[in-house]
Amino acid sequence: MTWAEDLVNTYNVVREKEKMPDPAALAELLIAHEIRIKDLPGTKDLDKARTLRAALREVFGAPDEETAVALLNRILADHHALPHYTNHDGEWHLHVTDPQAPPVDQYAVNAAIGLLGVITTTGMSRLHICDGNRCEEVFVDVSRNQSRRYCSPRICGNRASAAAHRARRRDTGAGRADRHDPLP
Ligand SMILES: [Zn+2]
Ligand SMILES: [Zn+2]
Repeated sequence: MTWAEDLVNTYNVVREKEKMPDPAALAELLIAHEIRIKDLPGTKDLDKARTLRAALREVFGAPDEETAVALLNRILADHHALPHYTNHDGEWHLHVTDPQAPPVDQYAVNAAIGLLGVITTTGMSRLHICDGNRCEEVFVDVSRNQSRRYCSPRICGNRASAAAHRARRRDTGAGRADRHDPLP
């Protein structure tokens, strides 16, 4: 379920910070998602993954469901989605890519299917870009009351409440009073 987020958040668009700097970092991401890789990814795979990353980010920023679904359908086509049933583990179930397909294609299709599942069952409003200062990480809000505003309540959430607290102190002039107090 975190396929799209995990890839999109390897780049911070505000700080222009690259967290997937080389093919080895891509390999790590693929392995973390249990995609089998025969050969280590190369720079072409890295380029492809970064292009996919930008396409997925566009989905999070899409103005409406139609646009988001169209973008995701495009990703499915571009990365050769191949729905098929298999019983490799003893029970028939659906796989969405050719297990021999290039790893980034497999990643793309799984990421797109994941977001399509969310959008078509619970709606586009689950897809978010973090409200945190200079963050813009993306996340899918799966909380029941859909109240998440930050990628991480611990980091961006805390930072935002600390900033709000400082702003309130400035507004009320709190902490300034003692300057005018007579010395004891
Ligand atoms: Zn399976
Ligand atoms: Zn954030």
